[in-house]
Amino acid sequence: MARLTTAPAIVILGAGALDTARRIQSVYVQNSAAGAEHPAAPACQIHALQGRVEADVAYTELGAHLCDLYARGTPIIALCAAGIVIRCLAPMLSNKGVEPPVLAVAEDGSAVVPLLGGLAGVNVMAREIAAALAVTPAITTSGELRFGTCVLNPPDGYTLADIGQGKRFVSDLLAGESTRIEGHAPWLDDTRLPRSESARLAIRVTPCVWDGREDELVIHPRSVVAAVTAAAGADASSPSAKATQIAAHIRESLAAHRLAPLSLAALLASSAHTSDAALAEAAAILKVPLRLTQTRAEDGAPPASLLHAALRMPYDTLHDDPQKGVALALASLAIDPDTIGRARGRLTVIGLGPGSAELMVPAARTALNEATDILGYDTYVKMAGPLRADQRVHGTDNREEMQRARHAFELASEGRSVVMVSSGDPGVFAMAAAVLEALDDDASQHPAWSAVDLNIVPGVSAAMAAAAQAGAPLGHDFCMLSLSDNLKPWSIIEKRLRHAAEADLVMAFYNPISRARPWQLDKALDLVREVRSADTLVVLGRDIGRPGGTLRTLTLGELRSSDVDMRTMVIVGSSTTRKFGKGTQDGSEWVYTPRWYR
Ligand code: SAH
Repeated sequence: MARLTTAPAIVILGAGALDTARRIQSVYVQNSAAGAEHPAAPACQIHALQGRVEADVAYTELGAHLCDLYARGTPIIALCAAGIVIRCLAPMLSNKGVEPPVLAVAEDGSAVVPLLGGLAGVNVMAREIAAALAVTPAITTSGELRFGTCVLNPPDGYTLADIGQGKRFVSDLLAGESTRIEGHAPWLDDTRLPRSESARLAIRVTPCVWDGREDELVIHPRSVVAAVTAAAGADASSPSAKATQIAAHIRESLAAHRLAPLSLAALLASSAHTSDAALAEAAAILKVPLRLTQTRAEDGAPPASLLHAALRMPYDTLHDDPQKGVALALASLAIDPDTIGRARGRLTVIGLGPGSAELMVPAARTALNEATDILGYDTYVKMAGPLRADQRVHGTDNREEMQRARHAFELASEGRSVVMVSSGDPGVFAMAAAVLEALDDDASQHPAWSAVDLNIVPGVSAAMAAAAQAGAPLGHDFCMLSLSDNLKPWSIIEKRLRHAAEADLVMAFYNPISRARPWQLDKALDLVREVRSADTLVVLGRDIGRPGGTLRTLTLGELRSSDVDMRTMVIVGSSTTRKFGKGTQDGSEWVYTPRWYR
C-alpha cells in the first residue's frame, strides 16, 4: 500500500464515473481505517463537478481545481482522459522534485494510467487501483517494469542520498549490471532486481554519509533522533540565533559520527521548553518534525534522559553532551516520528470571510486542511466545510466564547492541531480576542497553554465585504462599532457614537440589532441624526457573500430599524460620502467616500 501523507483526491466530471470512483475510494478508505493508530489519517474524497454530479466535495472548474490540488501536493486520481489532465496541469510541470502522484483512470475503470509523480509512488498507486479494478496498470517506467519496483522511490522513512546518483545507478542496472544489497532493505526482497554478492554495484542502506562512490546507491533510513535541553543555544542573543545554534550543534554531532543529516527523523525536546520559539525554528531548519516529551531534563541532567523517556524502540546513545544540551540516538531501523513523544499542539484562529469560499484567505483554508479539531459556532463550522470524516468538530452555541477558547487550548496542549473559526475577521468582534483573554487569564494555571503554537489568520471582515460591493464608502477615515451592549455598557456606545458622528467618521455598525436588543438601534440612529444630516448616505449589506445576499443604498432620513436585522452590516456615510449611477438598466449606483476634504 502506498503510504501517503495526504489523502488522494478522486476527481470526476459526471455521474458515469461515480461507480468507479467509489471502488477506488474504498481502496484508500480501508487504508486509513487500517492505520487506526493514526487518528488523523487523511480521508480520501470524491471531488465532483458542481451541477453535474454530487459527491463529497464540489468544484466549479476542472483546470483550476486540478492545479489547486497539485499545488498543495494532493495525489490526484482523475477519472477522465489523460490528455485533459495533461493539458490542465501543463502550466504546473516545471519542478519534477515535488510533484504529487497524478493518475488518469478511464471512467469505466478499464484503464489506469500513472502520469506524474514517479518519485512520489504513482506506480504503487497505479498497481493498487488496478488491482481493485481487476485490470493491468499502464506502467511505463522502464526500471520499474524490469525490476518490479522503483528503486529510486524507497518507502516512507527512507531517503535517497542523491537523486542524480540514483538515476545513473538505475541506468547501469538497465544496461545489464547486477547489484549487492548492503543493509536492511526489506522492501526490495520480493522484487526482480538482478542481485549478486560479487556485483560491482551496491545498494547501501545506511544512516552514514555517502562517501561519493559512484557504484553505490545510498539510501538513508530516518533512524536518528536528536534531543535538546534548555542548555542548547542558551547563550544565543535571539530566538533565531538560538535556532541556528541548535541546528548547528546537531549537524556537528551528526558529522562527528559520520551520520547523514537526511538520517535525522525528529528533534526531541521537553514539553516544558516548548514555548521556546527557537525549538520549532530549529526543527524547521533541520527539516524534521519537533516532538515533545513530558519528562523534564532537570538542570544538568543529560539530554539523553529525554531519549530514554520518549523512545519506544531499541537504540544506541551515540552522543550525550550536557554542556551543549544535545544527544543523539541511533536505532537500527527507520523511526516513525509520530511514535516519539507527541506533537507540539497548534491553535490557529481563522476568519472565514463573509461567506463565499473566494473571500476566505488561502492561509485559513490551509489551516482548516491541516486541522485535527475544529471549534466554533455551529453555523460557522458548517460554513468552513466540507470537512473530512477524520476531523473532529466541536460546535457550540454562540454565547460560550470563553469556554470555547479554553477548550481550544486544552485540545491544543494535548498535541492536536486546532482551528477556531470566526466569520469575517477573527479579530473584529470575534474569537481572537477571546482566545487571547483566555491565555492571558489562565496561562499561569496551565503552563502547557503557553507552549501551544498560536497563530491568528486575518479574514475579510463584513464591513470590507459590504463596502466593496457598494463601491468604496470606507474610502476615507472610518470606525467600526459594535452596537451590542452585551459586553459593554450602553453609555459607552452612546459616547462613542456621539464622538464618531462629530468627528465626521464613516461608521460601520456590527451587531446592529437583535431580538434581545430591540430598541438600541433606533436610539443610536437618533444620536447620529442630531449631528449628521438626513441626506447622509447609508449602505445596508445583508448576508453579503452568502446565498440570497442583498445590498441597499438609502439615506439616514429614510433608514428605519425595521430595515435591519442581525445579519446586516450598516455603513453610515460621512458628510462627503456620495454616489453616482453605474449607467446600467437596473439603476444601480456606486457609493464612495472621496479621499479628500474640500
Ligand atoms: N468577525 C465578524 C463580525 C462578527 S459580529 C467580521 O469580521 O465580519 C457579527 C455581525 O457582523 C453581524 O451582526 C453583522 O452585523 C455583521 N456580519 C457578519 N457577516 C456578515 C455578512 N455576511 N453580511 C452582512 N453582515 C455581516
